[in-house]
Amino acid sequence: MRRKLAAGNWKMNGSIPGLDMIGALKLKHPECPCDVLLCPPAPLLTHALQNTAGSPIFIGAQNCHAEEKGAYTGDHSAAMIAEIGATHVIVGHSERRDAYGETDAQVAAKAQAAQAAGLTAIVCIGESLAQREAGDALDVIRTQLQGSVPDDSAADTLVIAYEPIWAIGTGKIPTMAQIAEVHALMRQELRSRFGDSAEDIRLLYGGSVKPDNAAEIFALDNVDGALVGGASLRAEDFSPIIQALA
Ligand code: PEP
Repeated sequence: MRRKLAAGNWKMNGSIPGLDMIGALKLKHPECPCDVLLCPPAPLLTHALQNTAGSPIFIGAQNCHAEEKGAYTGDHSAAMIAEIGATHVIVGHSERRDAYGETDAQVAAKAQAAQAAGLTAIVCIGESLAQREAGDALDVIRTQLQGSVPDDSAADTLVIAYEPIWAIGTGKIPTMAQIAEVHALMRQELRSRFGDSAEDIRLLYGGSVKPDNAAEIFALDNVDGALVGGASLRAEDFSPIIQALA
């Protein structure tokens, strides 16, 4: 049985006062009905960890370097994220693939570094609007999944987030049939690669998940939760999404 996951990606948003939302979430969900994860910007990680101490809310980072240490100004390693007590890291978000030219191979190397450091890697994949309109979405997903997920991944340190690029921050979402089709494909691909253990890998949907569409998306087969951007910044928005996973 896969435990559902509500993961929030704050991107480059948030502030120390903004971490008050964690207190509000803790009050609303003293016992989380699913796993709850917040990924604030790196400078806020230690503060966020202080705020979640004693609660079931997990804290993760939004990126890591594939190397353990070295001359990589501005970067941080997976081991550093683990050392402060964070448990997850997002890798291969489309905004990073786009802005920093991250390739599938680089994403896989980051995911591998994360897993080696004891973190759970949330590997993001998803097609562009042009790829969707050209009828290439499933091929793109297959290729990204193959190239971005390390071969020796174990189910408990791997989460896949399907995030169609055209749905991120736009208010547009795919049809339920399109989401279900991609999630079924991902499960099938993972099964052929990892065998029975693929049943334990959680598959998230991400892209304009809001309180009013969460329940419909979560009712789909093989959707084990969501990676949420904008609606994870405020407890009023994120809490009903968590509740929809109960
Ligand atoms: C994201 O940033 O991963 C995301 C899904 O954003 P939003 O929910 O705002 O579309």
